[in-house]
Amino acid sequence: MSSKTRRSELAEALDGVQRRIRNAATSTGRSADDVVLVVVTKTWPVSDIRNLYELGVRDFAENRHQDAGVKAAELVDLSLRWHFVGQIQSNKANRIAVYAELVHSVDSVRVAQRLNAGAHHHDRLIKCLVQVSLVADDALPQRNRGGVARGQLETVAQAIDSAGALQLAGVMGVAPRGEDAGAAYARLLQASGQVKAISPRARLVSAGMSADFEVAIRAGATHVRVGSAVLGERPALR
Ligand SMILES: *Cc1c(COP(=O)(O)O)cnc(C)c1O
Repeated sequence: MSSKTRRSELAEALDGVQRRIRNAATSTGRSADDVVLVVVTKTWPVSDIRNLYELGVRDFAENRHQDAGVKAAELVDLSLRWHFVGQIQSNKANRIAVYAELVHSVDSVRVAQRLNAGAHHHDRLIKCLVQVSLVADDALPQRNRGGVARGQLETVAQAIDSAGALQLAGVMGVAPRGEDAGAAYARLLQASGQVKAISPRARLVSAGMSADFEVAIRAGATHVRVGSAVLGERPALR
């Protein structure tokens, strides 16, 4: 496919997603400006990111450090914001701290400490969200989709809040497969209240993917993480 065709394909998909975000926001009396579209570019080439940048997107996310690090280095000429949304191995946290502005997926005290060490080392301040498990039965670990059990939420939030190079910014959640997304995001908003009690400015709520971002916005999401609805079906699952 020529890049011109790809550009117009992306423009059309982006336009549709932005319109849906606006409609979902205004239908609940919120402003569309309250919701940040973060485009998840995992598996897609940097040429797509350049196209989306030229179409006005500034917030991009990856879920694996190996890919994020390479793309961030290739795109240093653009002033875009990198979000990290994947599970973090603590031995990579150090390097994620080089490029990430907002890490959505902090799910342990250890990861918070490693990110803080990396942020200090690179003289950066990194905003962090606590990723919260949204399974209905919190006693069960949330397989595959990650997040701290809600009973551990405050411990991890405090660890971020007291880390000098991190800023506690809010919460993130992934709706469990096969569960009602509206109910899952209501649980996330409850977690958001607990985190705001620790730090009032920690008001970000990252929720919603291609399949359910309108549900998430109606529940109160401030950041939606959308991949396939903008870029198309991913070439291969990994
Ligand atoms: C891939 C991914 C997304 C985007 O998923 P789509 O269904 O393609 O919109 C959002 N959040 C996380 C954590 C992801 O890994």
